[in-house]
Amino acid sequence: MKVLVINSGSSSIKYQLLDTETEAVMVNGLVERIGEEVGDLKNKAFPGTENEVVTEIQQPIPDHNTGMRLAIELITDPEKGVLKDKGEIGAIGHRVVHGGEDFHKSTVITDEVIAAIEACVPLAPLHNSANLDGIRVAMELFPEAPQVAVFDTAFHQTIPAHAYMYALPYALYEENRIRRYGFHGTSHKFVAGEMARLLGKPLEETNMVTVHLGNGGSITAVENGQSVDTSMGMTPLEGLVMGTRSGDVDPAVHTFLARNKGMDIEQIDTLLNKESGLKGLCGMNDMRDIHAAIEKGDKHAEIALGVQTYRNRKYIGAYMAVLGRVDAIVFTAGIGENDDIVRRESLKDLEAFGVEIDQDANAKRGKEPFKISTEASKVAVWVIPTNEELAIAREAREVLSK
Ligand code: ADP
Repeated sequence: MKVLVINSGSSSIKYQLLDTETEAVMVNGLVERIGEEVGDLKNKAFPGTENEVVTEIQQPIPDHNTGMRLAIELITDPEKGVLKDKGEIGAIGHRVVHGGEDFHKSTVITDEVIAAIEACVPLAPLHNSANLDGIRVAMELFPEAPQVAVFDTAFHQTIPAHAYMYALPYALYEENRIRRYGFHGTSHKFVAGEMARLLGKPLEETNMVTVHLGNGGSITAVENGQSVDTSMGMTPLEGLVMGTRSGDVDPAVHTFLARNKGMDIEQIDTLLNKESGLKGLCGMNDMRDIHAAIEKGDKHAEIALGVQTYRNRKYIGAYMAVLGRVDAIVFTAGIGENDDIVRRESLKDLEAFGVEIDQDANAKRGKEPFKISTEASKVAVWVIPTNEELAIAREAREVLSK
């Protein structure tokens, strides 16, 4: 089956066309600057030959509908495209950020599902509204194809109450659904599945700590294949030190900022989400720039790396305690897959817990999964590239095969 995976943001649409039989990527594209004076579209098609066909378009793209139509024209273009007709697309898989407590797994999109995703908008205002835009446009443009929603939160719906409840008045949970949900679920689930396969163990019997470090980051404790705790909370702000997000801070910081710096809620929200994290600490949010600055003696960059990797280590240790027996630790996403220094620092001094790293293996690079622990290490430590688009396409195929 050909599945079109759509990740719709407020001013962008990422899309990928995959063949679920071969798991090959047929088209990979990105529409950006929707609604701005000039929009960008970059479409890479892989028409079965060695060469990819890259098309770049710059023109006004006033809305998601226009962006998606342009993409479909390229996908079905007689010369540059890979399909004769958009009717060949068997399903559309949508990334949806927040599924609240309503969605424990991926689901075929119906009117009720749309209403439920809408009901989660207050929990993730920017993300869910943008995801809904993508869903509505796809339903218009592909009226025949089933649409499947794949939620970032779904994998974490197995987290028990003692881990998902905040110690706030219980009514806030009952009335406003304030609790921890967790995100990046599609990625954590994907690498957990791959890890079990590589270990040759059934997923249902495998315990692991999955470490997703990209622009956003989260760590998950996976017990017998199920998420039992994760570092992100009600929103993707909690937990690790990220590119521009603070992760955990004392909630009293908010009060302090309001009382002593006269900041309002919007300013505090922007500060914690967009001006904090690595960027707040050292002015840079790309880990590659931070390493380069450390080389040149930049003290703030060194502190930023230290704060980030120490936080990673605390969560890894906490989740090892949560799990008791740990079969594996898995690193994934932009930083997790590429940054041996972050991995080394995040795993420092864990030998007593059975984690022994082979630093030569850790220094390796590769697009395929690789092991970075020693043969003697009780806990296997691996780097496994995540592939959220493939995971969404697999989910769509699976939901529709039932
Ligand atoms: P997201 O999907 O959350 O936007 P990614 O998983 O693509 O993010 O990760 C992006 C981050 O990965 C970048 O901000 C950068 O810091 C980091 N990154 C990418 N390549 C490397 C590399 N070679 N070394 C260190 N960090 C890298």
